[in-house]
Amino acid sequence: MCEVCKKFGDELPWKSVDDIPELAEVLREVSRDTRNWVTAYRCVQCGQGWEERYESRGHSDVPTLKKIKKQEE
Ligand SMILES: [Zn+2]
Repeated sequence: MCEVCKKFGDELPWKSVDDIPELAEVLREVSRDTRNWVTAYRCVQCGQGWEERYESRGHSDVPTLKKIKKQEE
């Protein structure tokens, strides 16, 4: 895992990639599920997968950004 990915926790509630410029710089979008509001990203430096998911809570849709756990870990 690279320094940027290491710096952030496994789960970042209320954050989207765009909220964290440092992460936005290294993450590239790999897939987008518009129906479920899920976007998958991959770090260009270390290959770490990230997932941004919007969930409906009360009056608004809030994002959660989290690392995708690799199976071999
Ligand atoms: Zn990384």
